[in-house]
Amino acid sequence: MHEHVPMSMRAKFLVHWRANVGMLREKKILALSSFIAILPSLVFGLALWYFDPLSQRRSPATPINLTALLALIGGGMAFWLAVQHLFFVYTMNRYYAPFVRREIALLGMPMCPECGHLLANMQVRRCPECATQIQSNNS
Ligand SMILES: [Zn+2]
Repeated sequence: MHEHVPMSMRAKFLVHWRANVGMLREKKILALSSFIAILPSLVFGLALWYFDPLSQRRSPATPINLTALLALIGGGMAFWLAVQHLFFVYTMNRYYAPFVRREIALLGMPMCPECGHLLANMQVRRCPECATQIQSNNS
């Protein structure tokens, strides 16, 4: 998260708890973000299943080059972890962070739900930073 709001551990926990509950209520966002978050693993899993690099069927006579095999497995895992991490971070910023910012705003620290820009108050119509329309608390 990009926010640098001074908060106690307890307040932070509460904010994330409420953000989680808020996100669980939004089934569409939850389903979409979960899907995007695990997409790399799905793709890698499918690729493994389809190409089956450990299969003995293709060339049973050729001895396995252990170094090449380990490099392939290690490189593949590192690549998968890197891509999976990027997708996860993107999902958190794109879908989860707005819920967190909304809860922080509700605690009395007005903040744009989209970019985290601190606002003078929640009566501001548009975020001066990203021009997102701001919903006031009592709507
Ligand atoms: Zn903004």
